Amino acid sequence: MAILRFILGDQLSRNLATLRDIDREHDVVLMAEVGSESTVVGFHKQKLAFIYSAMRHFADELRAEGIRVDYVSLTDPENTQNLEGELARALRRHAVESVAVTEPGAWRVKDMMSGWEERLGVAVDVREDDRFICSHARFAAWADGRKSFRMEYFYREMRRETGLLMESGGPIGGQWNFDAENRQSLPDDYRPPERLRFKPDETTRAVLDLVATRYDKNFGDLEPFAWAVTRDGALEALDHFIEHCLPDFGTYQDAMKSGEPFLNHGLISPYLNVGLLDPLEVCRAAERAYLEGDVPLNAAEGFIRQIIGWREYVRGIYWLKMPDYAGTNHLEAKRDLPWFYWSGKTRMNCLANAIGDTQRHAYAHHIQRLMVTGNFALLAGIEPRQIEAWYLAVYIDAFDWVELPNTHGMVMFADGGLLASKPYAASGAYINRMSDYCSGCVYSPATKDGEKACPITLLYWNFLMENRQKLQGNRRMLMPYRNLDRMDPAQRTSIQARANAFLDGLSATDDEPAEPQMQLDL
Ligand SMILES: Cc1cc2nc3c(=O)[nH]c(=O)nc-3n(C[C@H](O)[C@H](O)[C@H](O)COP(=O)(O)OP(=O)(O)OC[C@H]3O[C@@H](n4cnc5c(N)ncnc54)[C@H](O)[C@@H]3O)c2cc1C
Ligand code: SF4
Repeated sequence: MAILRFILGDQLSRNLATLRDIDREHDVVLMAEVGSESTVVGFHKQKLAFIYSAMRHFADELRAEGIRVDYVSLTDPENTQNLEGELARALRRHAVESVAVTEPGAWRVKDMMSGWEERLGVAVDVREDDRFICSHARFAAWADGRKSFRMEYFYREMRRETGLLMESGGPIGGQWNFDAENRQSLPDDYRPPERLRFKPDETTRAVLDLVATRYDKNFGDLEPFAWAVTRDGALEALDHFIEHCLPDFGTYQDAMKSGEPFLNHGLISPYLNVGLLDPLEVCRAAERAYLEGDVPLNAAEGFIRQIIGWREYVRGIYWLKMPDYAGTNHLEAKRDLPWFYWSGKTRMNCLANAIGDTQRHAYAHHIQRLMVTGNFALLAGIEPRQIEAWYLAVYIDAFDWVELPNTHGMVMFADGGLLASKPYAASGAYINRMSDYCSGCVYSPATKDGEKACPITLLYWNFLMENRQKLQGNRRMLMPYRNLDRMDPAQRTSIQARANAFLDGLSATDDEPAEPQMQLDL
């Protein structure tokens, strides 16, 4: 009873459900680099290189174990460039009775898979992806009967179930959450730790050449490419993070600094998301560092919460609510994505920095994504689908199940508050507090009038006014609306006029990045 075991590009884990009962003598593993999966939204060059190189290394590791791997490269002249086509071709090459596959990370692909048995005439065993802490059934049971979902309550259950940072049935330190100690801005003389980066080997070099030729028009810089592409490399990156970066992770988690894209962040999301690292092993490593006295509790707890809390929570919502989830647009946002998201050319220094880091590394940390590029998209009323496509394209760690809820729910509030209790809208004052971006900007967060007035602040007040009907009943928005209502009515009218003039001047094409001069006379 030979089985064809199909492994997708984000399923590079030796303990994958697809591989668990493998019969080395009769079974074959199929892996395929397919153009259709890599051109869905014109991905960042480093993202393509990372996935193809990690796939090739994983195939080599399986072969070294004596497993038969049928690997279809992107340049194979027979390659149909889509998953279904490659499965159909492989079924003609191998005499097998059935196909085994683990469920994918995108609803679109899962939907396609559900038709394989009928279209390909073979039994297809689609197995649950159990490389997560919370199963679909567990999340559905948690969500059942709740009027609103809040990550904090979900997180506490995950802490109880994993036992992470727990003692005598309660949280270590007597609190679930130490965010009051986190979120500090960086002292001027703070020097972030050096990061461990990886030199491309022969396999990666071949992939870099392939991507350079085939995807030269895609977004972002291909080199220097410094990501790990194997499990051993990912484990090294994890160890380095725990030892050198985790101690200050919590304290400066929300800080931003020009020329410092990584600060104390983990840089582990690509490895987790393709399966080179396991979420529980990562959390146990952070917990161990705390128990051994090497990192403070606020750091270990803050980091673990991102993984067993946010990561599992957004995944739960994605699979519980798709496909309808992606179609909602609570704030009726319709504006086209400005071209500067692709070119990085804007006089708003915060956006130029976050997008520039993204171009160079296929990475920006959470606060850059949420409070800079995300905040602008929210305030400017960008159509959710367009900004979602951008995030999916440009980040090395972006896969639908995690990118979509973060962008659609957390950033754009397009789900009307299912995932987050209020929109993460902020003025220039927040960016000024948490970064050094404003000091290098032509605009000034403290200037209220004239051409130096900060567009983010202008758009912030305009956003509150434009969405008053939908947001003012939200208890967590009471304070912003109170502040808005204290403003002189003439000022409010002036803000709206100027915000609209600014937005109308944003270009959605690459002809001339036209940002009108600000004339904000508050
Ligand atoms: C608009 C937007 C889009 C995002 N898209 C993605 C995405 O496509 N893929 C992705 O993995 N993360 C995404 N995130 C979450 C977060 O920004 C990244 O996980 C993080 O920046 C990855 O870098 P790191 O490994 O250095 O993270 P760290 O700051 O070191 O955090 C540790 C780990 O926690 C997990 N994590 C933290 N926050 C989240 C979150 N909100 N959702 C899910 N996991 C989280 C990640 O696995 C991360 O590796 C997005 C956030 C926003 C606001
Ligand atoms: S002044 Fe405004 S636009 Fe400039 S960096 Fe600060 S927040 Fe961004």
